[in-house]
Amino acid sequence: MATQGTLHDAFIEELRDTYDAEKQLIKAMPRIAKAVSSPDLRAAFEQHLAETREQVARLERVFESIGEKARGKHCDGMAGILEEAKSALEEDAEDATMDALIIASAQRAEHYEMAAYGTLVSWAQAMGHNDAAQLLQETLDEEKATDEKLTTLAEGGINQQAADLAHGNMDEQDEQQEEAPAARRQPARKTAAKGAAKGAAKRTAKRTATRQSGARKR
Ligand code: FE
Ligand code: FE
Repeated sequence: MATQGTLHDAFIEELRDTYDAEKQLIKAMPRIAKAVSSPDLRAAFEQHLAETREQVARLERVFESIGEKARGKHCDGMAGILEEAKSALEEDAEDATMDALIIASAQRAEHYEMAAYGTLVSWAQAMGHNDAAQLLQETLDEEKATDEKLTTLAEGGINQQAADLAHGNMDEQDEQQEEAPAARRQPARKTAAKGAAKGAAKRTAKRTATRQSGARKR
């Protein structure tokens, strides 16, 4: 076995950390998926939960390939990211806003994993642990694909819906302050707005105004 303080030791430590991080994610993901409103986003979560279970099994094969017993060591980094995600779930936000917050939290987790697996692949390659490197690369590719999918979902409508809700809130505040001039401005804004999302924003603007101004004070 390697002596203390070598790159091989660090590799094993990093594997244990990552093994624990994946297990934390498996525990946390069902609760997060429940708070999601977009069916596409929920499907993405469910698919990645299945992948994550496979990633744990893959890490066990990595441990085996270097003659080590699969064992986790508490990952403080992922625990912190998941703690922040839990705070986001406690926000009293509209559906699209909550989805945008959940994507932000999920992408923090994915980037953390991408950093860990990127290092693990490089170290495995440098030390000639080729089977381990290949297995770890498979997981790295899945994490990257998940991150890209989350960006596509965010930029494919969820962020805009959330932004329209936020601006609906601002319109409402303008109206309260300026009354008649705000009413004249509205049609132009409606024309510029994107379809149903804007309609929904208008319908919920009053509620949103209360909730989001409350949220901002925190
Ligand atoms: Fe993972
Ligand atoms: Fe992941």
